[in-house]
Amino acid sequence: MRKKIVAGNWKMNMDLEEGLKLAQSVKDQLKGKGKTKAEVVLCSPYIHLSSLNAVLKDSDIMFGAQNCSSEPSGAFTGEISCSMIRSTGAAYVIIGHSERRSYYKEDDQLLNKKVAAAISKGLKVIFCCGEVLKERESGKYFEVVKKQLETGLFTFSENELKNIVIAYEPVWAIGTGLTATPEQAQEMHKYIRDLLSSKYGKEVAESTPILYGGSCKASNAGELFSMPDVDGGLIGGASLKSDEFCAIAEAAN
Ligand code: PEP
Repeated sequence: MRKKIVAGNWKMNMDLEEGLKLAQSVKDQLKGKGKTKAEVVLCSPYIHLSSLNAVLKDSDIMFGAQNCSSEPSGAFTGEISCSMIRSTGAAYVIIGHSERRSYYKEDDQLLNKKVAAAISKGLKVIFCCGEVLKERESGKYFEVVKKQLETGLFTFSENELKNIVIAYEPVWAIGTGLTATPEQAQEMHKYIRDLLSSKYGKEVAESTPILYGGSCKASNAGELFSMPDVDGGLIGGASLKSDEFCAIAEAAN
């Protein structure tokens, strides 16, 4: 059986002190209740990473970055490499978030290079895909997601794919309060699993976690996570409040 994963994406929120307080509080709440069976991941801004290592050391909570460079090192001012991320103790990196795709013009070819860089340094990748509202309304959403996955991910071997978690995030649901219905999420997750199956076979398809993201909160997480192909969530806004985020993690049981 696939393990559920609940990952928080803090985006560009929380200064160092606030972020460490939030992480401590998530840790305390989940430990106290001991309730979640999900793997919990906190994806913070880069500046928190090495301190998160200390805060989360004696817990099962993992942490990760929200982006990485596609290059290994060198004259790339302002960039952060995958080996730097790994050196903080981070286990994960989010690649291909819709905000990176749209504001920073990251295309599938670049994302493919970033995934290769991350895997080569031992990071697990949360690879985001999803359609914008116009593509949903025109019925092109399967096509869009297929292309994102084929170019971004399907160049990797079966073995490399073991480091990948896919996050389906319909862009029209991110930060908008509009959530995909459990049926809409399930339909796409099943489609993604079928794509994985035809490219890599049933075993890989059955073992790859596929998370849902887009206005997921404590009040809708249980319903979404109960769908057979929804293996947890990538949580934006609701990951900034520890009570709400921990309730989502508990909903993954
Ligand atoms: C996200 O940014 O990955 C996300 C899912 O955001 P929100 O939960 O705020 O919609």
